[in-house]
Amino acid sequence: MARREELPYLSQSGILLLLILGVLTPVGLMSAAGVVAIVLGGDIGSLVVGILVVSFALATLGAGTALLVMFQRRTRLAREQVTFLTNVTHELRTPLSAIRLYGQTLQLERAGDAETRRQCVEAILRETARLGQLVDRVLEWRRIAEGRRTYQKQRARVEEALDEALTNFQGLLAAGEVELHQDRSSTREVYLDRGALAEAILNLLVNAHKYTGETKRITLRSRDVEGGVEIAVEDNGVGIPRAEQQRIFEPFHRGGDRLDFQAAGVGIGLAIVRDVVRGHHGRIRVDSEPGRGSTFTLFLPAAPPAGSGGKS
Ligand code: ADP
Repeated sequence: MARREELPYLSQSGILLLLILGVLTPVGLMSAAGVVAIVLGGDIGSLVVGILVVSFALATLGAGTALLVMFQRRTRLAREQVTFLTNVTHELRTPLSAIRLYGQTLQLERAGDAETRRQCVEAILRETARLGQLVDRVLEWRRIAEGRRTYQKQRARVEEALDEALTNFQGLLAAGEVELHQDRSSTREVYLDRGALAEAILNLLVNAHKYTGETKRITLRSRDVEGGVEIAVEDNGVGIPRAEQQRIFEPFHRGGDRLDFQAAGVGIGLAIVRDVVRGHHGRIRVDSEPGRGSTFTLFLPAAPPAGSGGKS
């Protein structure tokens, strides 16, 4: 059997040290020589040579810094990709195990009575919907990351998108799992991609469910405000520390473990929501207090009055 040779491996800190020594030392020496030539040279020739040497040293330093930044960015990207893959695998495994378990129960006819069989089938459908939501989220993120995500907007009220999000959300829940409230009164039309907005609201609802303890109370609101429509998803969950509130919208960022257990996730849900909101020329903000809950509020600008000819 062919033996794979181990490649000589330089650690990350080794590469950093090499870069620093390989760039900083010659730059330091060159700068010193340049300064000596400028200060002690006396004639115009030494001055020119000194300035050239110092400029060259500074340019080398700039190139070295750019290289270092690129290197760090690549390392971070590689680390994020590995974490992303691990998280996706982890999130796939949980519903798959549940589906197998309920399937085996049905197969072995342990679920003797009709009611138990119905519960098993419902659970399988629920877990399949969860799998579908994860796959949709990953594919959607891929389109956004590759710059291929476009929004097909039409003049409409947001309420239909909210209904779609709620229906899909309820498909992921067991009966009585969440106390769901609605306070919806928006009437204004906006230019919107209904599917994309529904997906964004679903992501917020799923998070509200995921980052809340045993007793889950979620409220979906909508109302007309000056210049547009506001949609809010409110929960009574773990909340988000102030220092983290901006970073949660960055792709792959996952908050600290504030629940008793590690909530499954891959860190792209809010990045998708932010892209959808930007694609609609809207804004998103979060109000949150650790231990008390969070509210994510979207603002979408109203479509110009019908007949005025404006289109977003
Ligand atoms: P994921 O949920 O897969 O980690 P998201 O992009 O949807 O990815 O969320 C990023 C982070 O923001 C989460 O890891 C979590 O820490 C925090 N977060 C999002 N929504 C909520 C919420 N409703 N309550 C508390 N924390 C939240």
